[in-house]
Amino acid sequence: MIFVLGIDAATWTVVRPNLDKLPSFARLCRTGRGSDMVLEETPISPSVWCSMFCGKLPDEHKHGSFVSGGKLVRRQDIAVDFIWDILDREGRTVKALNVPFVVPPYSFGVDFRPVGFGLPTNDKEWQEELERVTQKTRQLMAGAPDVLIACYTLLDRVQHFHWGEPCVLDWYRKVDSKMGELVFDSGFLDNKDNRLIVISDHGFCSFGESKVQTLPMKSEEGELKGDHHENALVITVNLDYDIKAPQDVFRAIRQHVGS
Ligand SMILES: [Zn+2]
Repeated sequence: MIFVLGIDAATWTVVRPNLDKLPSFARLCRTGRGSDMVLEETPISPSVWCSMFCGKLPDEHKHGSFVSGGKLVRRQDIAVDFIWDILDREGRTVKALNVPFVVPPYSFGVDFRPVGFGLPTNDKEWQEELERVTQKTRQLMAGAPDVLIACYTLLDRVQHFHWGEPCVLDWYRKVDSKMGELVFDSGFLDNKDNRLIVISDHGFCSFGESKVQTLPMKSEEGELKGDHHENALVITVNLDYDIKAPQDVFRAIRQHVGS
């Protein structure tokens, strides 16, 4: 099985200096290989997640925003085949859970109602997303599909509201603990045939530190405290493929799950 764990907005800026408090990240860095994925395109979530799973550049898939013409963009508005569409046609089993290239996030081959319509905004919803995505992912893992993709969106939301505050690290610790359940406690990494990609779609920083401002400083929910950074986080275990750009996730899966 190849398992892609997407963690929206996870950044080495928080992880690296806190590895002593993030035991699963630390263990993954020892077991596998951590690296930066430096985005050449604008670090906007819909586009980057889309590229990861359709293997195309933003110019090719043309999906750059959650909203277009005043309407939420839906899966069917994006004229691409995703890795799950392709592998499913080839008779492989693929499950995708809560992938945030559209709002609400998209799932394939699994029934899942995203927390807070995919835009969780407070502690209660962040906790709920953590628990529900983890629980569903454990369940899907037990079925041993060829490819499993699951994403947490909460860190992006936490950081937008609280970047620079101590609670950001608290949420990384919670994610770290759930990630530990998924990849270590489940025995997933004990099976040497299993492969893992942990990846974010962009990093995070204070306003003005990124090359391109991707978001307004004020939103409907109040003032935003940070912005997306072009350096995304990648950790791979047992993967014979260098992830240097979002499209490489598609290629890596393709390589390991041959037709
Ligand atoms: Zn994002």
